[in-house]
Amino acid sequence: MSLNNQLTTASRSIERSLKIGPRQARLESRMLMSSMLDKQISWLIAHPETLLSAAQTASYKKLVERRLAGEPIAYITGKQEFYNIELKISASVLIPRPETEILVETALCRLPEHQPLEILDLGTGSGSIALCLAKLRPNWIITATDLSDEALDVAQKNARRLGLDQVRFIKADWFLGLEKKCFDCILSNPPYIALNDPHLARLNFEPPQALISGEDGLDALRNIIKNAHQHLHSGGLLVCEHGYDQGQACHELFYTSGFTNVMCIKDLAGLDRVTYGKTNPVSNQPAA
Ligand code: GLN
Repeated sequence: MSLNNQLTTASRSIERSLKIGPRQARLESRMLMSSMLDKQISWLIAHPETLLSAAQTASYKKLVERRLAGEPIAYITGKQEFYNIELKISASVLIPRPETEILVETALCRLPEHQPLEILDLGTGSGSIALCLAKLRPNWIITATDLSDEALDVAQKNARRLGLDQVRFIKADWFLGLEKKCFDCILSNPPYIALNDPHLARLNFEPPQALISGEDGLDALRNIIKNAHQHLHSGGLLVCEHGYDQGQACHELFYTSGFTNVMCIKDLAGLDRVTYGKTNPVSNQPAA
């Protein structure tokens, strides 16, 4: 069968089984083929009559079967685009999401570009946030943490492959493990889904510890927002991603923890997604 016929058969099965639109199904069938042949999608389009060997056909079918079983494309191909970089990923890290690009933008827009700022990415996973910032702001001194050894391994390999050796990786449970170090900006896309949230049924390929955070989904956010002051310089910025229904709760947590200029940013679907605030310079001074 020609490459084009393989793609057509695969995209029809994907469309039917996963109940997605024909354009998305076609794209997915091409992404899997591109990964299997190690060729760009543009090459596939330019060479529709190519004949696949029996071994190639069998390999492609295996990839399509994984997709039909619901596994996300990014885990099958082992890679995901994020902002300005391509990350290698494994099933031990969250697949970087487009919403998280808003978190990155928030920091980029609010921090001076040319100063050697100290930045902390808490719960780095694949390294998406830290590495993207390191690429765009080579002057910034970036620390990235995670509790998972597997995630740190994925992130460090991404750093090496992308030549972004200036990022320092630390194994830490949020702030535990960072000693007394202070930063100009702390960013985090922590787990924020509630333990019994029905959406979890559709996320069963991703590591639960990267998704779930206690009964109301706010355990990690509470920890980060309440303790961030001790690790931010005076006037420092905290930027957190959260669930679409957690904007109000985060706003209150920021205020009760002494942050000022607290703002919530919506994602492209118009849903609350990122909250940020600055440390009040006065609250960082020792009591008179
Ligand atoms: N910081 C990583 C990301 O946004 C991992 C986040 C997580 O595991 N919750 O992709």
